[in-house]
Amino acid sequence: MHVLRNGTVVDADGVREADVAIEDGEIVAVGDVGRGDTETDLSGQFVAPGLVDSHVHLMMDGRPDVATAQQESSYDRSYIAAGNLRAAVEAGVTTVRDLGAPGSLAIDAGRAVAEDRLIGPRVLAAGQNVVMTGGHGHWFGREADGPDEVRKAAREQLKRGADVVKCMATGGVLTEGARTGAPELTPEELAALVDAAGAKGVPTAAHAHGKEGLLNAVDAGITSIEHGTFMDREAAAAMADAGTYWVPTASALENIVDNPDAGIPESAMTKALEAADAFASSFDHAAEEGVRVAMGTDAGTPFNHFEDIPDELAYMVDYGMTPAEALEAATVTGAQLCGLDDVGLVAEGYRADLVVLDDNPAEDADAWGDPVAVFADGEHVV
Ligand SMILES: [Zn+2]
Repeated sequence: MHVLRNGTVVDADGVREADVAIEDGEIVAVGDVGRGDTETDLSGQFVAPGLVDSHVHLMMDGRPDVATAQQESSYDRSYIAAGNLRAAVEAGVTTVRDLGAPGSLAIDAGRAVAEDRLIGPRVLAAGQNVVMTGGHGHWFGREADGPDEVRKAAREQLKRGADVVKCMATGGVLTEGARTGAPELTPEELAALVDAAGAKGVPTAAHAHGKEGLLNAVDAGITSIEHGTFMDREAAAAMADAGTYWVPTASALENIVDNPDAGIPESAMTKALEAADAFASSFDHAAEEGVRVAMGTDAGTPFNHFEDIPDELAYMVDYGMTPAEALEAATVTGAQLCGLDDVGLVAEGYRADLVVLDDNPAEDADAWGDPVAVFADGEHVV
């Protein structure tokens, strides 16, 4: 048993002075804890749950023009994924959900971490995105048209071991020719996808920028809306009613808009700038209507690097959330969305996913920036 002594525990349940004991990857006691086999003194420091990033792309490396990755071999992409996993966990991210990779790359990466062949956060993965023919992200997605084909495409991902089924309900920023706001999969196709995933008890995620496609996805019973850029009050109300999670991925937009003249294709830059204003009001609508927010970054997209994942919490605060709300979105709420009931709190019986910080993250979202120590599933990685 290893004891983290004299620290201040900070999670979605609040802030309290408590020692934390971990053994075999699990938190075995929180509070007054007896002598451990080994001890670390954390006087003046804070112990928080590791971060959960509900939207990453392990095979992408933050290059300005994502389309150039089409020329890479699967081996190249696997090495990129290995580097990204290490960068994420060293930044204090102990769970990631990959929402789209070629073949079984991300599903295999999750097994490699679980079997101790790679250092990284635990990985939940969607396998390939289900997209309409020629739709957003088609070059690494599974193209499918019509409810029957979409159902089959979803079942293929489930057969591979997908933890979530991801689809494109609208166009996107990074695919040349895809219109950001326009609906892609139809309501019937979305319903078939949700039905196929539901049979396995697996959640679903829909990439959606425009309102019409977003509402199509919510009506179909999608578990989470990714991006939600043009969410208005009506769309936010529909999401709150249906219990749909929102994964905003502010980092994706910020890192495009903040890097003009850096090789990002003109079409992507234009679409990102159009999206930026609407995106700021989405946060207001979501807050007013009480939409559940889970933290996600879309890490891997242009200049959106895995080592910078904690910046997302500071962006969420810039957009009006409190540091404590951002913490909740990036820990327990993310874990709930991923279907993990033993992740996201510093509590007995939870996985020992812990970050040690110099400042209180419930008061300052920048506190996540440079963790003093990181434990991922009990392993001391930093
Ligand atoms: Zn994405």
